Amino acid sequence: MQKYDYLIVGSGLFGCVFAHEATKAGKKCLVIDKRNHVGGNVYCENVDGINVHKYGAHIFHTNDKVIWDYVNQFAEFNNYVNSPVSISKGKLYNLPFNMNTFYQLWGTKTPDEAKKIIKNQIKEHGFENPKNLEEQALSLIGKDVYETLIKEYTEKQWGKKATELPAFIIKRLPVRYTFNNNYFNDKYQGIPIGGYNKIIDGLLKGIETKTNIDFFENKEELSKLASKIVYTGKIDEFYNYKFGNLEYRSLRFENTRLEKENHQGNAVVNYNDGNIPYTRIIEHKHFEFGKQKHTVITKEFPEQWTKEKEAYYPINNDENQNKYQQYKALSVQENNIIFGGRLAEYKYYDMHQIIASALQKAKKELS
Ligand code: UDP
Repeated sequence: MQKYDYLIVGSGLFGCVFAHEATKAGKKCLVIDKRNHVGGNVYCENVDGINVHKYGAHIFHTNDKVIWDYVNQFAEFNNYVNSPVSISKGKLYNLPFNMNTFYQLWGTKTPDEAKKIIKNQIKEHGFENPKNLEEQALSLIGKDVYETLIKEYTEKQWGKKATELPAFIIKRLPVRYTFNNNYFNDKYQGIPIGGYNKIIDGLLKGIETKTNIDFFENKEELSKLASKIVYTGKIDEFYNYKFGNLEYRSLRFENTRLEKENHQGNAVVNYNDGNIPYTRIIEHKHFEFGKQKHTVITKEFPEQWTKEKEAYYPINNDENQNKYQQYKALSVQENNIIFGGRLAEYKYYDMHQIIASALQKAKKELS
């Protein structure tokens, strides 16, 4: 008889939600993580009152009331609305692409004026069936926005030509003909008051957790502990890269504490130009309207992924998707292993989507 019903490998949102639901259903779980803390990439480090998003900025948003109510069980959310700005060739533009952006680009003051320009540019440079990110962007928003705010940011972010990237990535960004700088279209948005760790702690309340444990280094003995495994790491690593490794994009974060109240006036400032090596600077206190005398900023440098580095983004182009399908075919044959999350499903998931997926898989498993 095993000691646990589930061994959960990885304490990110997928693992924690699954563990929470399984525990609620009377199952015994052990959650392990190779880092020295739980929470995966939503983990925050408190620097004298400022929650620093250690693994990149996380802004919660969803259209789904069920998911919104679910996270609100564990923390109250503030009314932060993400409104990044982007600097391109020394000029500042509002994001996402909206009437403010169009005014800054062309001086257009009405939707009709902006639409006319965009329509003409789409007619001239757009594609009927866009096959990659560049073609998709040109067909969605035209040449000027693409060249000023998309092309260089995208190529630096992904380390690939925009023509080699999947079209869906650029559809994450809204295009709207109103003066509205909200980066998301979702009904619910905010940052948990007290930080994301509060949500993780709530999900893991009463559940056994062990940090600093590498699953692969102790695979045999760990696997014996539980009837089933919930695996949230990289799927190619699970199968020892037998079909070759999937591509990921890594990041390097450079954090600086500054003894001043306000450095950039916004939580997120993007840097479009290709000759600037980072994609954005995050000023964490603005996520929570902080009034501290100091501030913490993080420059985010995209990097080539290697096996020693953290995998942040899957690169879902055709080649990688085909390889993933081979791994997936193996994974669906497993009787005692559940795969879930951004790395195990090789999917560019947002937080709300991970929670929805974990709830769905937990329900299926536990019912
Ligand atoms: N993007 C861009 N310019 C920007 C911001 C985003 O071209 O100023 C593109 C880029 O290709 C990026 C994608 O839109 O990878 C998705 O952006 P999002 O902000 O959703 O990315 P995340 O926060 O997940 O890194």
